[in-house]
Amino acid sequence: MKKKDEQNLFILSIIVAIIYGIFKIIKTALLAVLDFLNYIKKPAIIFLITVLTIYIIYEIFLYLYFKSKKFKGIKNSIKQHIINCNELNNYTEELKYSYLNLEYSEVGESQMIDNSKYSFKRKEWNNNKSKQTFHCSATICKNANNNPIKYLCKYFNIQKNEQSLSDFENVLNNFTSIEQGKSLLKKERERILKSISKSVPDIISLFSEKRLISELGFEKINFSNSYIPIFTFEYVSAGGNSSTKCEIKLDIENLNKLLNYLNSIIKWRKSIAGQRALMTSPLREKIKKRDNYRCCNCNLGIVDEKNLLLEIDHIIPVSKGGLTTEKNLQTLCWKCNRKKGTKIITVYNTV
Ligand SMILES: [Zn+2]
Repeated sequence: MKKKDEQNLFILSIIVAIIYGIFKIIKTALLAVLDFLNYIKKPAIIFLITVLTIYIIYEIFLYLYFKSKKFKGIKNSIKQHIINCNELNNYTEELKYSYLNLEYSEVGESQMIDNSKYSFKRKEWNNNKSKQTFHCSATICKNANNNPIKYLCKYFNIQKNEQSLSDFENVLNNFTSIEQGKSLLKKERERILKSISKSVPDIISLFSEKRLISELGFEKINFSNSYIPIFTFEYVSAGGNSSTKCEIKLDIENLNKLLNYLNSIIKWRKSIAGQRALMTSPLREKIKKRDNYRCCNCNLGIVDEKNLLLEIDHIIPVSKGGLTTEKNLQTLCWKCNRKKGTKIITVYNTV
């Protein structure tokens, strides 16, 4: 019994010691806070408290507004437009993979290229993993800078044949759709926001536009162009003290140049020579203009939908022997183009 009493007394004294310690810590902390408040003076305290109160009230107001029937009504009234925007957003994201789908056996891979496997995934796009590096001499690096397209083809082994040309035409088509799609999406989102601006309190449009966009259901648009492949020529001296780099971005401008370059050196078969056009940006614009900026399938035009994404399509797909000739090209809206897939639509009327 005596031993148990001693044990209890011991535990009790430990508890008392702990409580005493905690109180001491709290007392010190409180004194420190009081000291601090005293240090920053009353007006500053009042200012801090006011700002904090306003912030909390505003956050509560936002929460209640976005849960309100009125906001749900606004959201409902533009639901279809938001769905359309999100669909286009997903479509442009999907197109970013088009470059990966290229048959690289056709384009070829040089043994001298480092890391030339195109296996990066979506989340890595933003990390600029679409870089291919070729370690070379200082002279090659310098020459590549003076003549980027020629050296790109030579050292990254891009074949100078019809297949390669057609593959890069396809990449240009898709990259153009991505860029135009992003810009049209932004405009369409602005148009939708403007259409509801009178119903939404000004304070929200002014201070919480991002939150408003997300609460309305818009998916985030990825404006980054890190999906564009970058080819790098890099020279590093043996000691590592000297290094030069030449980066070639395969963007729309360079893709156009690449097409022109490939076209200028490919020896066309006689039957095709003279028939085939080059699907560069100017030709795409020409076809759109010829078709009055209307989809040749559903007849929807930019007159009806200001921010409509129009694409250029091969009536008979290249995979089925169709050529890039003006006769075999038509304007399609992105939805019809996506639906078409490999199906052949024969609605084209000759001009
Ligand atoms: Zn259409």
